[in-house]
Amino acid sequence: MFSLIKNGEVFAPKPSGRKDILAVGEKIVSVRDKIDLPAWLGPVTEVDASGHYVVPGFIDQHVHIAGGGGEGGPVTRTPEITLSTLTTAGITTVVGLLGVDGITRSVAGLLAKARALETEGITSYIFTGAYEIPTRTFTGSIRSDLFLIDKVIGVGEIAISDHRSVQPTPEMLSVLASEARVGGLLGNKPGIVHLHVGEGNQGLNPLFEVISNTDIPVAQFVPTHINRLSGLFEEAAEFLKSGGYIDLTAGITPDNSSPGSVEVYEAVGRLANKGLDLSRVTVSSDGNGSMPQFDMNGNLTAVGIGSVKVLWNDVQKVVNENILPLQTAITLITSNVAAVLRLSPRKGVITEGSDADIVILDRNLRIKTVMARGKIMVENEKPVARGYFE
Ligand code: ZN
Repeated sequence: MFSLIKNGEVFAPKPSGRKDILAVGEKIVSVRDKIDLPAWLGPVTEVDASGHYVVPGFIDQHVHIAGGGGEGGPVTRTPEITLSTLTTAGITTVVGLLGVDGITRSVAGLLAKARALETEGITSYIFTGAYEIPTRTFTGSIRSDLFLIDKVIGVGEIAISDHRSVQPTPEMLSVLASEARVGGLLGNKPGIVHLHVGEGNQGLNPLFEVISNTDIPVAQFVPTHINRLSGLFEEAAEFLKSGGYIDLTAGITPDNSSPGSVEVYEAVGRLANKGLDLSRVTVSSDGNGSMPQFDMNGNLTAVGIGSVKVLWNDVQKVVNENILPLQTAITLITSNVAAVLRLSPRKGVITEGSDADIVILDRNLRIKTVMARGKIMVENEKPVARGYFE
């Protein structure tokens, strides 16, 4: 019931110096220079964080928790994710979503998986929908899904500028976004439209058209994978400048299959050099989804599976390459994401009243200990809590 993390150097994400953190049940109740507990209190789980950094648990807003993919036929459908795969990557809050396969994968299956992860100890949300428009829903409309299904906080991932999309027109996107907008208002949810942006020639054009020709606020949209092409990334920088949120996908590296892509640290560096507002920039992993590769003619050449580990690997690199200090780099996967998804101040920060979601890093920025909702999930890099069938 009581957990005390002692003597760590806290980045909340603001640098707070050496602090003790007391959690009761799932909540942080005190962050002080020194906390001594009375003997009568009963058993306390104590973690010595001396010589370590203490940061908020990571929030990954793009994980195919119920599996994804299938571009190479049924054998390439990826399996469901396990609890410890997420926790050992420092992820204590996850947003699950469907992707290209809205036929054999259902939003009902996604919701069930999200509920399972919540029971196993982390926090989960979902986006209703899949790549297509009209998209997959529980109730027949995005609006009522947002209103009626607690875990639904937006719609996604809706594919644009991709050969696997339904080639949506700006009108189709506008109708979809208006559904998310009104459903979000009625359900008191962010109503995010999470857009998968492919490598198509249209880039962010459909989005710019919707923004300039409708009354839907720019902050309703979160385009992701925007660092997959250099030109697309430059358009996304313009979108950010106009007040939008953008989401970078971790694990993207310029290689033979995508020579024009921009790695996360490089992308963040370029945005910082342009003097843009980094508080509206986030990073997600696209974990557990398929990673199909296509040749110039659109023929499938290989299918891999995405790892959630890339999330911290890439943000860590932002620090190691001296692009940003630790306290700013971690906002990309903590407080910034909480702000986009309207989870603040419950998530993304270490403060009195927030959830006890905590990652403890050693001086080399390795994830040593992970706590989710007040429970230790990872100790000394090893999972100590496992999913039901792990
Ligand atoms: Zn995607």
